[in-house]
This record gives sequence, C-alpha cells and structure tokens, in this order.
Amino acid sequence: MAQVSKNARTGSTTHKHLCTCGGEVKMRALFQNGKLRNVAVCEQCNRRERRPKDFD
Ligand SMILES: [Zn+2]
Repeated sequence: MAQVSKNARTGSTTHKHLCTCGGEVKMRALFQNGKLRNVAVCEQCNRRERRPKDFD
C-alpha cells in the first residue's frame, strides 16, 4: 500500500517572527566590534534585537 507521508515541504521556512509594527523580522549578519554577529532586524521599522524572540 502506498502510504502518503506527511510532506511539509512548501512554506517550510522556520517560523516567522513579526515585529510589533507588523513588519517581518529577518536575520542579518552585522559587524559589531570587529565580529560578525547575527542580529534580528525588522524590515519595516529597522528595529534591531539580538534574537527574533525578542520581538514577540
Ligand atoms: Zn518593526
């Protein structure tokens, strides 16, 4: 019997975080003090937090 496995391929990006302004939060690599750091940035209001969770 052909069993259809649960394929969650489409739209399987890691869950999105939304800023309080409604904009989408994306991870960016930024140089800070000579180190490359990943920060979460809201694309709409440019709010910057250390982690996407901080926008919740
Ligand atoms: Zn925002």
